[in-house]
Amino acid sequence: MRPTGRLHLGHYTGALENWIEQQNLLQPDGSRAYETHFLIADYHNLTTSLDTGSIYGHTIDMLIDWLAAGVDPGKSPVFRQSQVKEHAELFLIFSNLITTARLERNPTLKEQVRDLNMDALCYGHLGYPVLQAADILLYKGNIVPVGEDQLPHVEITREIARKFNSHFPHQILGEVFPEPAPKITKFSRLVGLDGKAKMSKSLGNTILLSDTPDEISAKMRNAVTDTLKVRRNDPGRPEVCTVYSYHRKFTSAEELPAIEEGCRSGSLGCVDCKRMCSAAISAEIAPMLERRRDYEADPELVRQILHDGEERARKIARQTMAEVREAMHLGEVRA
Ligand code: AMP
Repeated sequence: MRPTGRLHLGHYTGALENWIEQQNLLQPDGSRAYETHFLIADYHNLTTSLDTGSIYGHTIDMLIDWLAAGVDPGKSPVFRQSQVKEHAELFLIFSNLITTARLERNPTLKEQVRDLNMDALCYGHLGYPVLQAADILLYKGNIVPVGEDQLPHVEITREIARKFNSHFPHQILGEVFPEPAPKITKFSRLVGLDGKAKMSKSLGNTILLSDTPDEISAKMRNAVTDTLKVRRNDPGRPEVCTVYSYHRKFTSAEELPAIEEGCRSGSLGCVDCKRMCSAAISAEIAPMLERRRDYEADPELVRQILHDGEERARKIARQTMAEVREAMHLGEVRA
């Protein structure tokens, strides 16, 4: 994830919740099903903003959100891309394994250019998925739990891994890299409060994981519902309503049919429906608010967690880069 500050519900439903599930998944014998590594993609921020002075603050805000949501630093190293130099090295090599035409076809890039009204693209932004491929493959990731917008990037990662493996077989390992598979959740694209296709900080349509119940209620009051349901008793269409899409995620399966039915028949007005939705979201966030207090009170602990994670990540990255150089015959010394 890029450190763009405090996280919103889209980050949670699309990625973070999935990360934590993978982190905590056990095999029948009680051992962990996966090793998990969580990256703070600070270099990636440069693609859309050169305001690097705020990156550290955003990193800490985001890390506290991760920890509050259940990322366990004992299990999962958390680290910044810029502090593990191998990311940049592998990116350089991978840049030569893909064409610019392939990168220009990336639908996520097209969407970003449109949403942010960008009139020109820098070289690094075009290469964003190539750096992301390095981020994933340095740790030999098999599974990448991401939101839907990131699927094209995982596909590019697979293509790069295939190209590397076939072109640079390793004398002992055979293939250096796995071909990672994406893992998306049911809510891999959470819509924004304004009804736009994606909840996103840059679109200003978010509910934050750090919002209090009062803040959530206030934001929810402005959420877009079915525009044809004007008066309280008008029948509504849950399938087009932003608030109902949140109910589907945050309201229990037992309560959901009554909300759908009430909306369709007109017996449930939008004001009450929004109040119930705010309560359901607040209930989900409550334990995170509780946990974040401990981390906010102890900045030294958060710094230490990051420092430890970076040490652990460097060790893994160094080993992978040694294998890459061996496979490529770089740095060989011949008698
Ligand atoms: P980003 O902040 O763009 O680096 O996104 C970090 C992660 O959150 C990625 O896996 C995204 O797919 C996911 N994500 C961001 N916004 C949303 C959203 N509105 N719905 C679902 N997933 C999202």
